[in-house]
Amino acid sequence: MSCILIQNGLLIDTEWKRRADILVRGSKIVRISPHIDPASIHDNVTLVHADGLLVLPGIIDAHTHYHLVSRGTVTADSFKEGSKAAAFGGVTTVVDFADDDHVSLPSCFRSRVDAMGEEMAIDFAIHQGVYAFRPGLEEELAQVKKAGCRAIKLFTTYKDVGYLIENREELRRIFHMCRDLGLMVCVHCEDDEYLQQVASAYHGDYRPKDHPVLRPARAEALAIEHMGTLALEVGIPLYVVHLSSAEGLETVRSLRDRGLEVIVETTPHYLFLDRSKLEGPDGPLYVMTPPLREEKDNLALQEALCNGEIQVVATDHCSFTRAQKLESHDTRTIYPGIPGSEEMLPLIHNLVANGALLTLNEMVNVLSTGPAKYFGLYPHKGVLREGSDADIVIFNPDVSWTLSSENTHSECGYTPYEGMNVIGKAVMTYLRGRLIMGSGMYLGIPGDGRFIKAT
Ligand SMILES: [Zn+2]
Repeated sequence: MSCILIQNGLLIDTEWKRRADILVRGSKIVRISPHIDPASIHDNVTLVHADGLLVLPGIIDAHTHYHLVSRGTVTADSFKEGSKAAAFGGVTTVVDFADDDHVSLPSCFRSRVDAMGEEMAIDFAIHQGVYAFRPGLEEELAQVKKAGCRAIKLFTTYKDVGYLIENREELRRIFHMCRDLGLMVCVHCEDDEYLQQVASAYHGDYRPKDHPVLRPARAEALAIEHMGTLALEVGIPLYVVHLSSAEGLETVRSLRDRGLEVIVETTPHYLFLDRSKLEGPDGPLYVMTPPLREEKDNLALQEALCNGEIQVVATDHCSFTRAQKLESHDTRTIYPGIPGSEEMLPLIHNLVANGALLTLNEMVNVLSTGPAKYFGLYPHKGVLREGSDADIVIFNPDVSWTLSSENTHSECGYTPYEGMNVIGKAVMTYLRGRLIMGSGMYLGIPGDGRFIKAT
């Protein structure tokens, strides 16, 4: 069997960093040691020199929507394209979502696994959306759990597209089922009733700049409060997806004071972009839900990330082309979502490189180890350890470059981070011991990505 020996890199774990060699045989890391003599290896060995470079466990983007069919169209990045953008950003595993067709979760889950398995070039896990309560739901959930699902996703909004479960008693029963089955409850938090109140008092023209007016931080805070209170009553943790605001963060803090375990995910766009992007002719390019907020929100989330109050950074990658985005300038019809899998690692590394309080260990935790543990992928994924999958990113922490549509790879044709200077770049990405991106070349193979059953 052929081997790869990665020599002399600085290995980063959540607890330590150390200079060491890594020996990969087939798809696994088989040995980590301060010095491994190539002459001691009896197989064919490829030497990789990582002097001056960081060696990280493959990044896990724990929130993506590749090939999302919605509102009569499909996202720019399907599974092939999403995998490619991801590989350039050091991402080796994504967690994507299966919809709920209101009939059978197991069949929704299976068809998503099959569709992704045919075209993904990186590994993937899947969360199951639950959009309606019904008799037999518990059995459906038991079956998806058995099929390798670790978490469900609920919405507190999107009544118009049929995602919202409004009845509190039904929600309570779902929370109970998840507690009994050991499923994590992930929630998109924006209170629909409050959003409707805001909308009925609104008399503007629905331009992109008003998106944050129509979906205020208060709505996020209210939904976190409601779902958090229910989680406390039932006795389960709550996973808040894409936290966007300081006000929402305050509510998380108060729930934690009341004894609730809240796992908070945020995204690069809520950390680094604010609502001023929504002004001007390109405003639609920056429309997603929840919307971009104020700079003070960015700073509050950055501080919370550095303080350990945020456990996961993921992207909510849901990309539409410039043309798709600019078809409408009305927030009610603009396709919501932006790309991000590729940009995430360098953007978060900026917080390390720019002397903020984030350490490399914490960066690895929020981008890889943390999501692997929460979603049952650990220790196959999320760690550099003998026996783990050889998902490895070799990262140059010193290169300074500017993000642009010219040097990023999403099929959407733009990056929301255009013109931002970042420090650090993935130079090689290995998936289970196979190079899928090296020196700016993409080597991923559609269909090579595997479904990772959560344990
Ligand atoms: Zn999402």
